[in-house]
Amino acid sequence: MTGPTLPFDDGPTCPGCDGRDVWVLGLVGLETFLSCRDCSRRWKTFDDVAGAVDREIPVGMFDAAEGDRLRDAGIASAAASRAALLWFAKATALHLGRTGLVVCADDVQRELKRQGHDPEDLGNAAGALFRGPKLWRCVGFRNSERTARQSGAIREWVRRDVEPPLQVAS
Ligand SMILES: [Zn+2]
Repeated sequence: MTGPTLPFDDGPTCPGCDGRDVWVLGLVGLETFLSCRDCSRRWKTFDDVAGAVDREIPVGMFDAAEGDRLRDAGIASAAASRAALLWFAKATALHLGRTGLVVCADDVQRELKRQGHDPEDLGNAAGALFRGPKLWRCVGFRNSERTARQSGAIREWVRRDVEPPLQVAS
């Protein structure tokens, strides 16, 4: 078993094996598509934070092409609840930092946009992106690219559980 468990107290449990090593495949509307690393089961859940309803989906049903199709149709961002979006954003941050690279809020928001979501929907919850049980370590600051922040300084983070990438001597 490799890779991180989504380390949230309200995170999902695999309906197949009760495992907690669950990964987020994507978020479409109010549905979050999940995958278990232990038994490879895939399923989707509605409103995962408050009273999840799990439904199994066939393996392969949620793929990149389907995500693109929904995004192009404007479905992905239209109905995403803030709670589900925050959960997805946290998972996205963990994913971006999986090789030990430095991650900041701008990186996460850029990736959310790329996947068809509107980061502004996070509202103040965006401040919770890097909060978690000893998940992230602040390693510095950079100026935000976002005009809304008027180039305010934002924190740079690295995951505590990942070795930093090898430095290439220059
Ligand atoms: Zn499982």
